[in-house]
Amino acid sequence: MTGDRPGASAASPAGPAPSSQASASSSAGSASSSAGSASSSAGSASSSAGSGALSARRTLLSVERLDARHGLLHAVRGVSLTLAEGEKLALVGANGAGKTTLLRALAGAHPAAAGTVRFDGADVTALPAHRRVALGIALVPEGRRLFPEMTVVENLLVAGRHRRPGPWTVDTVLDAFPLLRPLRNRRAANLSGGEQQATAIGRALMTNPRLLLLDEVSLGLAPLAVDAVYESLTRLIATGTTVILVEQDLGRAMRIADRVVCLLEGRIVLDGPAGELTRERVTEAYFGLRSAAAPAVP
Ligand code: ATP
Repeated sequence: MTGDRPGASAASPAGPAPSSQASASSSAGSASSSAGSASSSAGSASSSAGSGALSARRTLLSVERLDARHGLLHAVRGVSLTLAEGEKLALVGANGAGKTTLLRALAGAHPAAAGTVRFDGADVTALPAHRRVALGIALVPEGRRLFPEMTVVENLLVAGRHRRPGPWTVDTVLDAFPLLRPLRNRRAANLSGGEQQATAIGRALMTNPRLLLLDEVSLGLAPLAVDAVYESLTRLIATGTTVILVEQDLGRAMRIADRVVCLLEGRIVLDGPAGELTRERVTEAYFGLRSAAAPAVP
């Protein structure tokens, strides 16, 4: 966990500057603009605060009144949001707010108790995870979950079973994460945390996703490893990949994202453009202080 998390005192490390192009670029356009809309209409993405460029993009993900439970525990409560193609959304919230459960529900790794998830206009709510992967939804799970006895390359190739056609191959992943190239034949169990995280992100990229769901990629990593992973990730994100990023380091999340959504006890309490939200505003929502639901949540 880094020091820029709300309530922590240390300053966050400076984020890497996005470079103009990743070596394995995806087909989408530039990573520009922001949107604060939480509406759920299909078709073109609506935007209450974003630029014209983003509002003209098509809606890739549309979530309506989504509920997810762990037994009796109601972890995700009536979540509605839309994500435009190319948008980068940072999902923040305190421990137990429901971030991981929401990402897993979007990926099909956790069942929806109610509500709908539409991806590129198609209702995927009942689809299992591997069918969603084939449509272009990839999850980088908290804790990496690599096959420890398999090498870096073998871990990447395993993901290729459900891959869509696209630019990501073992070679382009190793270009995007140069720290992995000399380690490509090393077993995952013998990698450092940062190297494992890079492999886990690479594994998701191997499916050629249209939507990349990243769950706490910096969790448990040394600060230098976080910087290395984020350097590659920032280049990747700048190519136009659509991303939902769960990140406890608020400063980093707000630098990398177009838009910030804050969950509190399973509900969205803040949804707005990263460039227009102050750190204080997000921190208030994070802790449920004041009337945090004020700005962009309809
Ligand atoms: P963290 O930052 O700690 O990972 P989070 O915002 O990702 O938190 P979730 O992990 O989605 O939150 O958890 C949401 C709620 O569901 C919490 O109250 C948590 O205790 C509970 N929960 C999560 N996983 C399970 C599980 N496997 N069984 C029972 N309850 C769970």
